[in-house]
Amino acid sequence: MERESERKSDEESVNGQRRVGILYDDRMCRHHTPDHEDHVENPNRLRAIWNELQSAGILQRCVLLGAKKAEDTYLHLVHSRSHVNLIKHISSRKFNERRSLIAAEFNSIYFNEGSSEAAYLAAGSAVEVVEKVASGELDSAAAIVRPPGHHAERNEAMGFCLFNNVAVAARYLLDGRPESGVKKILIVDWDVHHGNGTQKMFWNDSRVLFFSVHRHDFGRFYPSNFDGFYTKVGEGAGVGYNINVPWENGKCGDADYFAVWDHILLPVAKEFNPDIIIVSAGFDAVYLFCKKEVDLAVGDPLGGCRVTPYGYSVLLEKLMNFAEGRIVLILEGGYNLDSIAKSMRACLEVLLEGKPVTGSLEEAYPFESTWNVIQAVRENLSPFWPSLASELPQELISKVGPHLHTLISSSEDEDDKGAPSTENLEELLEDVIKPLSELKVDADEEIDVSSTWRSELSNVYIWYASYGSNMWKARFNCYLAGGQVDGMVKHCSGSANRTLPKEILWKNFPCHIFFGRDSSDSWGQGGVAFLNPEKKLTDKTYMCMYKISLEQFNDILFQENALSLDADSPLFDINTLNAISDKEFNSLEVVKGAWYGNIVYLGKEQDVPVITMTCSLLDIKRFKSGKLPLRAPNEAYANSLIKGLVEGEKLSEAEAIAYIDGAVKSL
Ligand SMILES: [Zn+2]
Repeated sequence: MERESERKSDEESVNGQRRVGILYDDRMCRHHTPDHEDHVENPNRLRAIWNELQSAGILQRCVLLGAKKAEDTYLHLVHSRSHVNLIKHISSRKFNERRSLIAAEFNSIYFNEGSSEAAYLAAGSAVEVVEKVASGELDSAAAIVRPPGHHAERNEAMGFCLFNNVAVAARYLLDGRPESGVKKILIVDWDVHHGNGTQKMFWNDSRVLFFSVHRHDFGRFYPSNFDGFYTKVGEGAGVGYNINVPWENGKCGDADYFAVWDHILLPVAKEFNPDIIIVSAGFDAVYLFCKKEVDLAVGDPLGGCRVTPYGYSVLLEKLMNFAEGRIVLILEGGYNLDSIAKSMRACLEVLLEGKPVTGSLEEAYPFESTWNVIQAVRENLSPFWPSLASELPQELISKVGPHLHTLISSSEDEDDKGAPSTENLEELLEDVIKPLSELKVDADEEIDVSSTWRSELSNVYIWYASYGSNMWKARFNCYLAGGQVDGMVKHCSGSANRTLPKEILWKNFPCHIFFGRDSSDSWGQGGVAFLNPEKKLTDKTYMCMYKISLEQFNDILFQENALSLDADSPLFDINTLNAISDKEFNSLEVVKGAWYGNIVYLGKEQDVPVITMTCSLLDIKRFKSGKLPLRAPNEAYANSLIKGLVEGEKLSEAEAIAYIDGAVKSL
C-alpha cells in the first residue's frame, strides 16, 4: 500500500500538479449570533483558515470554486420538508420577533438574518465539491464552510449545525447523480464530537460506510448519549456499515488516532473499496496546550484531544490510498482559530503533494485505553469485516504511552512558561472543557415521566444491594431525591420517582469488593468500589439493601453510568430480571462497556429479588491482569463507606476501616 502511493505520487508529479479544489464564500460569515454575542462558532473561523491559506501560498496552487446554494430537492434527501422550510425562512423578516425563541427550542443553536443563506451555501458548497471530484474534474477538494453539519438530524438543527452538509452531498451523489458512477461512499468523521446526524441518516444504508472517532467519555461528552458507542453498528441493510470509535476521555493524540486508522479504518476501507471519501473535517481534537508554536497548534476550547496539524496530515495521507485519491474535505467544528487554520493548511498540503507535512510524533505509542477501545471495536465489527477478525499481537498492544500526568510534566520545558502545572491540569480540564463540552444550552433535563415503562416498573419491588458509597443513606438518597453529599464533586439529578426506600436491611454476601479506576466523575481522584461477583465462601461483603421500585433501580443505573434518565425504555426490565434470577450470582451486562453496567442477582429476601450492579466480567479480568488500575479510594469516598457501615451495620469505626483496608489490598 505504501509503495503504491509513492508510485502514484511520482506519476502525478511527472504529469503535473494535482488538481485540488477549494471553496469559500464570505456570505457564510453573515451567520452569527443575533447581537454579536461571543460564540465559539463564529465567522472568524472561516476567515482565519482563508487568511492562513492565502499567506501560505496554498490558494495559488488550488482551483478556486464558487459557492452555490443547495437545491431543496437535494436537501429533502436527508431532511424533512418542515425542517428545510424552517431553515429556509428563519432569516426572513416575519421571524424577526420570534427567531431567538425558536432557536432556544433547539439544542445549541442560534439564528440571525444571515443564517438561511449561510446554511444553503454550506450544504450547496458540499454538493459542489463532491460533484467536481466525482466527475473527475478535480482530484480532490476542500469546502471551507459554516454552519457545520454533522450534528444536524433529519428534522432537527443541533450543536451549531443547521443542514447536514456532508450527508446532503453523499445522498446527492448516490441518488441525485447516478451517472457519476458513485455507488459506495466512505464518510470519515474525525471531528472530536460524534456525528450523530450523519449516523442516523445512513443507519440502514449499506452504500455509505460511516466511520466516526470521537470523545465519548461513557456518554458524558456532547451530544451526551450512547449513540456514539461502538455497539452502534447500523441496522437492516446498513448493519456493519456504521463504525464508532469512542474515546474514554480527552487525552488521545496522534499516536492513538494513527492506531485507530491502522487497525480499524484502513483494513475496513480496503474491504469496502469506496468510490469516493468524504471527510467530516472538524479540527476540534487538537492539542490543549501549546508547547512549541511551530509544530503544535494551541488547543481547542471544546475538544480536549491532542491531535496536531501534522497528525491530521498523516491521517489524510493514509486515506489517499483509497478511492483513487478522490477525497473531499468538508469543514465541521474546530474552535481555536490558529489550530483550524494550521490543520486545514496541513490537509491541503497533503492533497497537493500526496505526502504528510513535516512533523513528528509527540508520543510514540497509543494509550492502553486506546488499545482496549480498538480491540472492542474490532471484536464487535468482525462479523461484518473479516479483516478485523484476527487478534492484535501482544507485542503490539503492549506498547503503550505514559499516563497523562507523566506526559504533561515531561513536556514542560523552558519555553513553556504558560503551560499549567500538573496539579492544575485536572482543574483546567474541568474549567475549560467541561462547561463547553456540555454544549447543551438547557442543562436541566426533563424526564418524561409518562413513559409506559416507568408506570409498569413503579410497582415492581426489588432489593438494591449496595456495597460502595451508597451504603451511606445520605449519599444513596442523592440518587433518589437529587443532590450531593460532602466529598462528592458532582451533583445527582435524582430519580423521576423520589419516594424513599420502603425498607432498609443489612446483609453479608460471600463475594469480594475491591477498589479500582484512577478517578470517578462523582468523587474525583481515587478508586471506587466494585464487586467481584464470584461466589467465594471465605469472602464477606457487607451490603446495605434498599427496597425500591424497579423504576428507581433503573434511574440509579442511569445515574451510575452517566446516562440520560429521559429514556424510552428501561435498561433492566422484568424479563431481564427473570432471566437472571434462576441462579445466585448470575450476572448480565445491560450497559456494554460502562462502569456499572453489569447486574448481579444475589438471591431473594422476603421473596423479593436482591440485585446489585458492578463492572463487566471482562473488566474483572482486566483488573486482575493489571490492565485496569486497582486504587485505594480517596478519603471522602472511604468516609462514605465508614459512615454507612457504622450507621447501619453497627461496626466500630476501626472495624470499618479494617474492612476497607482488606478490600483495598486484593481483588
Ligand atoms: Zn465538533
